[in-house]
Amino acid sequence: MRSADRYAVFGHPIGHSQSPRIHAVFAGQTGQAIRYTAQDVPAGQFRDCLDRFVEGGGKGLNCTVPLKELAWRAADKTSERAERAKAVNTLAVRESGELFGDNTDGLGLVRDLADNLDIPLAGRGILLLGAGGASRGILQPLLAEGPSRLVIANRTQAKADALALEFADLGAVEARGFADLAGEPFDLILNATSASLDGDLPPLPAGILSAGGACYDLAYGSRPTAFVRWGAEAGAGVSVDGIGMLVEQAAEAFFIWRGVRPQTRPVIDLLNAERGLKR
Ligand code: NDP
Repeated sequence: MRSADRYAVFGHPIGHSQSPRIHAVFAGQTGQAIRYTAQDVPAGQFRDCLDRFVEGGGKGLNCTVPLKELAWRAADKTSERAERAKAVNTLAVRESGELFGDNTDGLGLVRDLADNLDIPLAGRGILLLGAGGASRGILQPLLAEGPSRLVIANRTQAKADALALEFADLGAVEARGFADLAGEPFDLILNATSASLDGDLPPLPAGILSAGGACYDLAYGSRPTAFVRWGAEAGAGVSVDGIGMLVEQAAEAFFIWRGVRPQTRPVIDLLNAERGLKR
C-alpha cells in the first residue's frame, strides 16, 4: 500500500497552530492520503529544515510567522500574487524537485468575506488597518475585487505611505495615520494589525464605520478579539475574526497540492462551535 504523502507547517512559535487539524479534516473529507504535521522552525534554521523536508520526500509546506519572506526567497518559481506580497505561505514540491511558492492568504480572506459572509467588496470603501506582512499579502486580491477606494492606516504612517505607493498601479489606494480617519465612514474595516494578539486595539476615532458596515479582524483566538468587540459596539452588521480566512487559505493550499477542493464551511463551523462562537 502507498504511504501517505507528507506535508507540514513551519513556524516559530507553532504550538498553537490549527493547520494540522484543518488539513486532517480536509483529507478525511476528500479521501486524500496525506500526513500533515507542525514543526517549530526558527528563522535561522529554515533553510536546513526545508532541505531536510524535501530530501525526505515531503510534498508541500505551509510557512507562517516569521518565515514567509524566507519562503518567498527559497522558492524557484512563484505566483504573481506571491511576488506582489513578497511572501510565500505555501510551497509545493514539484515532480522535478522545483519549489513552487504561492501566497493564499489574500484569496482566503476574499473567499471568507465574499462566499461565507456575503460581504460585497466591489464598489465599496475599505479601510485596512496595519501595514505589515499580512496587509502586503492581501492587497492584490482585495484590489482585484474593485473596491471604490482602499485606505491603509498604520501607526507608523510612513509604512502605509510606502505600501500605498507600491500597490497604486492596481487601484485606488491611499494612506493615512489613525488620527486622520475621523468622520470618514467605510463599508468594511479590516484589522491587519497584530494589536489583537496583545489584547489591544488600534486608536480608532469615532464615525469611521458606515451604518450596517462590516468589521473583520485577521487575528483570531479562543474569544472574540478587542477589535471584533469594538465593531459590535460600533454597530457593525457583521463583526468577526479571521478563523474563516485561516480555513480558506488552507483550502487553497490543499487544492494547490492535491488538485481537490475541500469543503470549508463544516471546518469553520467546527472551529467556531469549539470556541462557543456563532457566525
Ligand atoms: P507584522 O508584525 O508584519 O505587522 C504588524 C502590524 O500591526 C504593523 O502595521 C504594526 O504597526 C501594527 N501594530 C502592532 N501593534 C499595534 C498596536 N498596538 N496598535 C496599532 N498598530 C499596531 O504582522 P502581520 O502583518 O504578519 O500580522 C498581522 C495580523 O494578521 C496578526 O494578528 C496575524 O495573526 C494576522 N494574520 C491572520 C491570518 C489568518 O489566516 N487569519 C494570516 C496572516 C496574518 P507599525 O508598523 O507601526 O509597527
